[in-house]
Amino acid sequence: MSEPLLEVTDLVKHYPVRNGVLRRAAGIVHAVDGVSFSLRSGETLGLVGESGCGKSTVARSVLRLVEPSSGRIRLDGTDITHLGKTALRPHRRSMQIVFQDPFASLNPRMTAGDIVGEPLTVHGIATGRDRQQRVAKLFEQVGLRGDQMRNFPHQFSGGQRQRICIARALALGPRLIVCDEPVSALDVSIQAQVINLLIDLQRAHAFSYLFIAHDLAVVAHISHRVAVMYLGRIVEIADKTELFQNPRHPYTQALLASVPIADPTVRRLKPLVDGDVPSPVNPPPGCSFHTRCRYAIDRCKIERPALREAGERHQVACLLNAGTGHTQ
Ligand code: ADP
Repeated sequence: MSEPLLEVTDLVKHYPVRNGVLRRAAGIVHAVDGVSFSLRSGETLGLVGESGCGKSTVARSVLRLVEPSSGRIRLDGTDITHLGKTALRPHRRSMQIVFQDPFASLNPRMTAGDIVGEPLTVHGIATGRDRQQRVAKLFEQVGLRGDQMRNFPHQFSGGQRQRICIARALALGPRLIVCDEPVSALDVSIQAQVINLLIDLQRAHAFSYLFIAHDLAVVAHISHRVAVMYLGRIVEIADKTELFQNPRHPYTQALLASVPIADPTVRRLKPLVDGDVPSPVNPPPGCSFHTRCRYAIDRCKIERPALREAGERHQVACLLNAGTGHTQ
């Protein structure tokens, strides 16, 4: 099999917490605590988990927008973890991001055409008429009209603004697009349209998506594989169908039980987890999920489970459940 486009190994990002006037270090936020995964060309990996579990920090570390505390990031065979600004520049072109809030990520004083064309200017790829034509083509690709290039962000709807962000991300011909909750701020009726657009674009261009969302229902449609995060770690990763049909980790099972079901005659499963996510400043020892897990045994309070094979292309970090189906 060919080498993965993106390979993340043992990624760790800790933030110091500072207190008081003297800003003394009072603790460490374990935002990401040893995350590994890979992503092939043309593949979509969905990264899900509750708010604060470290999804955005993984995304920003991959894009080198934050410096990882340790670990390694390889893009297309090159270790980019510690590359300086100049050496990183060509790789930046291959990695783009689409943020959750399209309004906040668009300059209100620039026309939509200038926003989409800006990367072409910054990277010295096209100017003048050439740039204009390329931008018009990008507008067409994301389902916007050419005459809308003259409009400003406030003249567009939320869904259209996200299309502008997607067009801007496409401008440099990326190989990887990180989508950080790209539809969470949109009306439900618009969400499916934007996700379908992302799927169509991937079919046409064969780039990869790292697709972040806090609920499984959103990643279900677009992902080929899904990784579930809890308190800075991946607790389960598998092909989408396998994960949905055969979830092994009690946390994944709980997330699946909370996915809304449109049919009112379907009886809802009882919630499987209690309480809130513990603070990442003081994560529980052992399995970080044991404080909310109905199956936890004494060993879970001491031993930190590693991701282990639990089926074909299926890994789970659970002492009770790797390959045994114990909690099914
Ligand atoms: P998610 O995307 O899953 O909501 P984040 O990656 O944004 O999670 O955050 C993970 C944890 O790291 C959270 O507890 C958050 O408060 C903390 N965090 C994120 N960025 C910073 C930062 N710059 N400084 C300190 N803590 C941070």
